[in-house]
Amino acid sequence: MANQKIPVLDLRPEIDLLWDELNTEIQSVLRSTQFIMGPQVAELENELADYLGVKHVVGLNSGTDALVLGLRSMGIGAGDEVITTSFTFFATAEAINMVGATPVFVDIDPQTFNLNADQIEAHINERTRVILPVHLFGQAADMGAIMSLAEKYNLKVLEDTAQAFGGTYKDRKLGAIGEVGAFSCYPTKNLGAYGDAGFVTTNDDASAEMMGMLRKHGAKKKYHNEMFGYNSRLDTFQAAIMRVKLPHVDEWNGCRQEAAATYDELLADVPGVVAPHVVTGGAHIYHQYTVRILSGRRDAVRERLTAMGVGTMIYYPIPIHQLPVYTELEVSLPHTEQAALEVLSLPIWPQITRETQGQVVDALRTALT
Ligand SMILES: *Cc1c(COP(=O)(O)O)cnc(C)c1O
Repeated sequence: MANQKIPVLDLRPEIDLLWDELNTEIQSVLRSTQFIMGPQVAELENELADYLGVKHVVGLNSGTDALVLGLRSMGIGAGDEVITTSFTFFATAEAINMVGATPVFVDIDPQTFNLNADQIEAHINERTRVILPVHLFGQAADMGAIMSLAEKYNLKVLEDTAQAFGGTYKDRKLGAIGEVGAFSCYPTKNLGAYGDAGFVTTNDDASAEMMGMLRKHGAKKKYHNEMFGYNSRLDTFQAAIMRVKLPHVDEWNGCRQEAAATYDELLADVPGVVAPHVVTGGAHIYHQYTVRILSGRRDAVRERLTAMGVGTMIYYPIPIHQLPVYTELEVSLPHTEQAALEVLSLPIWPQITRETQGQVVDALRTALT
């Protein structure tokens, strides 16, 4: 491999492929000077709603705001509890605190890294209002069980779909199953913008209207502010870029699935490495290809891979409940804590070649010796 560095993600191939179209669209925004809420924003919202099979999409400036506005649209605030996972990006839990509510962390299923639905019911009480599953790494959380519990206890479901654009659960698009789907279009995500961006989905007219108001300071009509909101509009440039990328996402997710199958095959005889577990009845779209490195060797293996020029990431090194802002909750989640010590995400992007993947796995074999 002789100093040939392998990044954990390479966006250059897609940019090369779409170069002319991206330039045309970017220049068109530039010429229009409609930098705030230009027509591309509503066009993208309509295209996303069609793609996901939902009535409304509201473009926002991040996935974090998508979670916050989703919770606000459900009326969540002080005194309310939201059941979620601790094995996620900080924003999932942070959004709950930012609306004044309290996260209640439930352990993961060690096979899928997603919320263990069997443990949710024991955490439901009179303050519980929402279940907030994350479709981690691009694979659906156990939505059948989660939706039944929500119905039984009259709770709402907010899907953190930041990592799972295009993924499915029993033929339904993720982010279109609960009351609200929150999506991030951070550049590394499967439908990534080239800056910060995000959006929410809902089939409820009133929620859509409220989130539309919240993104612009609580006003339907400029200067007629009706509530306290945010400045969270989706940037016109980002909307224009995402419109160029959207028609390619299914093909690219298919390429990620092929790359994952290649890793599965190459890793089959590598001892001490556990490949991702895929549940049936849905499409895992491999935002990440995350393995476990057993026997307490993860950090040493990663260091050796870095020295060999192979990029990897640890999602996530510290369970959210162990961060200083949450230590007072004093929860212990053994499967989450174990996963944080063992996970390693390998390089994956739609255009990664089998040759590059072979180099990654060879380096991993060497690092394990
Ligand atoms: C990326 C991500 C977010 C936050 O999205 P931003 O667009 O970066 O604000 C939230 N939750 C999960 C699970 C994520 O991966």
